[in-house]
Amino acid sequence: MDGSSPPRAALTIPDLVADGLVRADDAPVLEQVAQDFRLRLTPQMRAASARSDGVARQFVPTAAELIQRPEDLPDPIGDDAHAPVPGLTHRYPDRVILHVTKTCEVYCRFCFRRETVGDTGHLPQDQLDAALDYIARTPAIHEVILTGGDPLVLSARRIADLVARLADIAHVGVLRLHTRVPVVAPDRITDALIAALRQHPSVWIVLHTNHADELTAEARAALTRLADAGIPLLSQSVLLRGVNDSADTLEALFRALIRLRVKPYYLHHCDLARGAGHFRTTIDQGQAIMASLRGRLSGTALPTYVLDIPGGYGKVPIGPGYLVPDAQGWTVTDPNGQQHRYSDPES
Ligand SMILES: *Cc1c(COP(=O)(O)O)cnc(C)c1O
Ligand code: SF4
Repeated sequence: MDGSSPPRAALTIPDLVADGLVRADDAPVLEQVAQDFRLRLTPQMRAASARSDGVARQFVPTAAELIQRPEDLPDPIGDDAHAPVPGLTHRYPDRVILHVTKTCEVYCRFCFRRETVGDTGHLPQDQLDAALDYIARTPAIHEVILTGGDPLVLSARRIADLVARLADIAHVGVLRLHTRVPVVAPDRITDALIAALRQHPSVWIVLHTNHADELTAEARAALTRLADAGIPLLSQSVLLRGVNDSADTLEALFRALIRLRVKPYYLHHCDLARGAGHFRTTIDQGQAIMASLRGRLSGTALPTYVLDIPGGYGKVPIGPGYLVPDAQGWTVTDPNGQQHRYSDPES
């Protein structure tokens, strides 16, 4: 495969029944879910789902998705609140998100963009031109983040064209891609794709992955090809109830990633996407997990736990606090939970 093939055909509910991933009795209600929220798995994730509940729960629809809660939002992270031109989100002065496509290789059941992914394919050429034009005439933009959907569903040739155009804009010092493809569709990570990416002198990949069982032998090989090509790799994960909401599960994931030369970057608190309430933990639970990982895991393997404030107000760290001010200075908690006093030296 040359990496230019379109995303594979969607699976059907009967396929999932045949795999034993859903019960035949549940098929009618799941057909209803699949009308509302697209269904797609790659062969790799279909096989991994059969082996692991932690993978299956991310991709196999459930009736719980029909439950709407008052807190659910159609645009949970406020992408639309900062769109100067279609397809572009400019929330922070120095960086923009370019939504090059709405298609993904898999559709995650908790997706924060689930209202928009899957419907209209790639960003039309005239809108892409307008977005690149906005970037070219906005010198404050130091970094362009390609996302979607998943930018790596584009053919290697289209990616080559886009990367070349971005490399021509002198003030864009860094190009970043947010993708799930190296894990869910590792066969797309071809030499042609890597050559396309490397046209930009500083291209970074942020891999979305949530469970060590996603990291199949093929996925590991794809990540190794990217790292060997000199492309820095980071990861982002979503804290998901029933998938990875335990210190042991996240420890296994972060250890596996760091061995693959992927630096865990963010652990996202689950967003308020519609029909995804069953995946949410509380912030208290997330903080307790992070606190138990601190000291147990190398600092290189620890991501920052973040919340994307609903409404488009930005991402902020929400990890456990170790420092409390007092009259004399500070009380600091160590990784074992013991408290210590600290005072700033007199100036
Ligand atoms: C998450 C996000 C970014 C990137 O944020 P970093 O903290 O730099 O990873 C940029 N723009 C928008 C709109 C975002 O949601
Ligand atoms: S790959 Fe990303 S954008 Fe696509 S469905 Fe999953 S979370 Fe959403």
